[in-house]
Amino acid sequence: MNKCPNCGARVYSKDRYCQYCKTEVARPRPIEKDQSQITYRSYHYDSSKSEIQSINDTGSIIWGIIGFLFPIIGLLIYMIWHTSKPKNAQKAGLGALIGFIAQVVGLSILPVFSFFRIFRIFP
Ligand SMILES: [Zn+2]
Repeated sequence: MNKCPNCGARVYSKDRYCQYCKTEVARPRPIEKDQSQITYRSYHYDSSKSEIQSINDTGSIIWGIIGFLFPIIGLLIYMIWHTSKPKNAQKAGLGALIGFIAQVVGLSILPVFSFFRIFRIFP
């Protein structure tokens, strides 16, 4: 038994409309309603939590630059953050990879330049 919100008359829970004033009576299912509210709250909480978690995970190019200049540090950043800050970790890891390749290429080109300089082919 529920009460009509308009006239206050008793309404059977199976009835959708009040039999006296024909006002639509909201189906009273308090348990389900509470559950949906809890579900919404927990979902809302989870989403806000993930937002907080991703505040510092901006995937800033700075991490890429650090990784590029210091590939070992970039690699360490990637290893430390690859679960908690995946965007930053990805940038640092990518920077480290590019930095490492650049250093390897640079080190392999340098002797070639020295060779040219010795024989005065290259100024
Ligand atoms: Zn009524």
